[in-house]
Amino acid sequence: MKPATIKRQVSSGGVILRKSNDVVEIALVAVKGGNVWCLPKGIVDRGESTEETAVREVQEETGLKGRVIDKIGEISYWYYIKGENARCRKTVHFYLMEYLSGTTDEHDVEVDDASWFSIDDALNKISYKGDREMIEKAKEMIGKGE
Ligand code: ATP
Repeated sequence: MKPATIKRQVSSGGVILRKSNDVVEIALVAVKGGNVWCLPKGIVDRGESTEETAVREVQEETGLKGRVIDKIGEISYWYYIKGENARCRKTVHFYLMEYLSGTTDEHDVEVDDASWFSIDDALNKISYKGDREMIEKAKEMIGKGE
């Protein structure tokens, strides 16, 4: 077999938060048959800023509209695209967002579920290390009053 080609992708997503009875909650989405919980995110379209993508993708995937408070950071990982024999290096930018409107009942049909979790429950549920680091960083930022 020919050696895999290398691709690059840039996505953007968010840690969207609300306060419910004094508890800070964030929204996660479930994929892969509901077994994998992750932060909402998606590919940055041509002509779009990473901030715009984060707002759009959070709304599309979770059903929740939010506004960006600040940048949290970015993560990178490799994955293999079978049908294309390609290895993809993906970078995902993440933003801290304040919840404005909408409900998780309106989540995208492309995700299996979307739900609010306390930060500690989200840290237990989350499947990927990079996502966990972004939630931990968001927790620190909120603690500092952002
Ligand atoms: P996007 O949501 O950006 O449009 P996608 O759904 O096509 O992209 P990914 O969510 O990046 O693609 O998933 C591609 C592969 O990478 C999957 O095998 C998935 O399990 C894995 N993956 C997804 N998120 C992470 C992560 N944070 N860390 C490591 N691997 C991940």
